[in-house]
Amino acid sequence: MNLKTIKGIGPKTSQILEKMQITSVEDLVTYYPYRYEIIRRSKLSELKENDEIIMDGVVEQIPTISFFGKRKNRMQFMIQGKENRFQIVIFNRAFLKSKLLPNTPVTVIGKYDKNHNRILARELRFGLIEKETIERVYHIKEGITNKILASYIDTALTLPYQVEELLPDYLNERYHFIDKIKAIKEIHHPVNPEILKEARKKLIYEELFSYMVKVSHLKQVRERKKGIQRKIPTEKVNNLIKMLPFSLTEDQKQSLEEIKQDLEASFQMNRLLQGDVGSGKTIVAFLSLYMNYLSGYQGAMMAPTEILARQHYESLRNLLKDSEVRVCLLIGNMKSKERKECLKELEMGKVDIVIGTHALISEDVKYSNLGLIITDEQHRFGVHQRTSLMNKGKSPDMLSMSATPIPRTYALTLYGDMDLSNIYAMPNGRKKVITEIKKESEIKDVLTSMYNQLQNGHQIYVIAPLIEGEDEKNKNDVETLTTNMKKAFGKKYQIASLHGKMSASEKEQVMNDFSSNKTQILISTTVIEVGVDVKNATMIVIFNAEQFGLATLHQLRGRVGRNQLQSYCLLISNQDKERLQILVKTNDGFEISEEDFKMRGSGDLFGSRQSGDMIFKIADLKRDYKTLMFARKDSEEFLKKVESTPQKYKKLFDKIVGIKKYVS
Ligand code: ADP
Ligand code: MG
Repeated sequence: MNLKTIKGIGPKTSQILEKMQITSVEDLVTYYPYRYEIIRRSKLSELKENDEIIMDGVVEQIPTISFFGKRKNRMQFMIQGKENRFQIVIFNRAFLKSKLLPNTPVTVIGKYDKNHNRILARELRFGLIEKETIERVYHIKEGITNKILASYIDTALTLPYQVEELLPDYLNERYHFIDKIKAIKEIHHPVNPEILKEARKKLIYEELFSYMVKVSHLKQVRERKKGIQRKIPTEKVNNLIKMLPFSLTEDQKQSLEEIKQDLEASFQMNRLLQGDVGSGKTIVAFLSLYMNYLSGYQGAMMAPTEILARQHYESLRNLLKDSEVRVCLLIGNMKSKERKECLKELEMGKVDIVIGTHALISEDVKYSNLGLIITDEQHRFGVHQRTSLMNKGKSPDMLSMSATPIPRTYALTLYGDMDLSNIYAMPNGRKKVITEIKKESEIKDVLTSMYNQLQNGHQIYVIAPLIEGEDEKNKNDVETLTTNMKKAFGKKYQIASLHGKMSASEKEQVMNDFSSNKTQILISTTVIEVGVDVKNATMIVIFNAEQFGLATLHQLRGRVGRNQLQSYCLLISNQDKERLQILVKTNDGFEISEEDFKMRGSGDLFGSRQSGDMIFKIADLKRDYKTLMFARKDSEEFLKKVESTPQKYKKLFDKIVGIKKYVS
């Protein structure tokens, strides 16, 4: 229905509303409040210093005003409430002075300065609080007020607008949802908080459900695309699993099974394997490569750093040492003779598995029959890097791995058309890494802790933000720290340093020495951030910790605690204690990435509500995560029903995915 049917909406208002993505009466009624204010007189006895307060009373005498700065002012007056008197302070409302005559009844909303019995008001309304009311607050744009928008919405609600119920009956029944029209009425004019809750529940679920139906549908379309169909000899895979020095965790088994099913299915796999640092994704990747090999195809695994690629190469070779599988390494920094050799063998199909960096996608790299591509730490690669690797095969299966730098709530939507496998639990016997924040002045304590670890035969990483001293003060660099650590420990222990400017062979040497415990302390930049796996290292000391993002620090911390030994992470910093405290508090990478996003202000990954390009009107991925999980499952069930009984559900399906005309 056209907006112009509503009185007061002319061309100018229409324009503003359009920016808010409101172009019809239907849009108006589904423009939901983002919060509510319950206007009820606060109980003073329950309030603490600086708590939110709502209080009413009558003005005692004409306010006093002081002006300052450019057009700024501070107004002050007393009100007499039912029981108490309060001093009211409010900024930049001098224009209200003439209305605030003695005995005028007012309601103030603000912060309660208990000690001075003062209210620092942010809002001032005329009239006393008669009874408890729920007020709605909408997101607005310049040129329109909450009050006016509310009045348009109220008018719209009286018109015969048309909104579609987007949930099948059986779901409405399953969750005891209220009717959509009722939900819409209640969301704007809640009779009481309980019904408001019901209304929100319904609309949030409906929004997430229809979103997930769309995503699941996209996934289905992909699944119908042909991929490689193959048979995997389970027996052989199980034999290799039996050879492992540990038994797989339930989550690892589950993920592996999901991957196996995808590999065997006729469509192209596009799966994301998520799991916190240290949860054991690598072995799942290796076993997948092995399955792919057994079914007769080449596999490639791409890692973001040479150090990591080399480590994977060594471990995979070690894992498959008793088999016929031929593995090669391809990185940027390698002898051209070796490289040529590797390329030739790849193209001729003499190599079964190649592990490397983005060197794998160079123009001159050709594969003979690429069947599986794995990207480790996939967030380090751009989409185009993954697709160019994909284009080197004939619809090869794709497995991406990530230590979830993206909060899981967002991952589901961002990677909506990927299938997810999760490793939630760490391998048995892992202890929580103990994390502490130390000031630079406490360096003695740090050295003592380090000494204890060394004495127990363990190894230590020391991380510096810089390679060599630059003119910035107070920054620790690899060179200086190496000198200092040598002074402290050099007599008894071997110390080495590592950074990105070193040549590949130097890096390799240093890493090998550390892996084999020839060196006990490794001083490094963040080149070891991802993936590096040396089990005997039980301590990581990070200098100038404030310079790193929380997700990076969490990744760095993941270098230790890789077996059953108690490990430690010491964050050295003179600043930023509050942020770093999050790492002390939790070892859960999901939680940390959420905090990181929040703090860096990118919580609005999907654009802010104000800018009008939010994908959700009422749902909040973070807050409504659980609901999203249900909606996801239910959407899959719904799609199955659409397929089995189209006469019943196809129409609703078309409505949801936005196919306007339904031809039966
Ligand atoms: P990430 O998920 O961070 O890539 P890794 O795959 O590097 O973690 O695994 C971390 C460590 O845990 C490795 O040393 C690996 O050998 C070990 N590991 C993996 N799975 C298990 C398991 N089921 N039981 C014990 N240790 C395991
Ligand atoms: Mg890893």
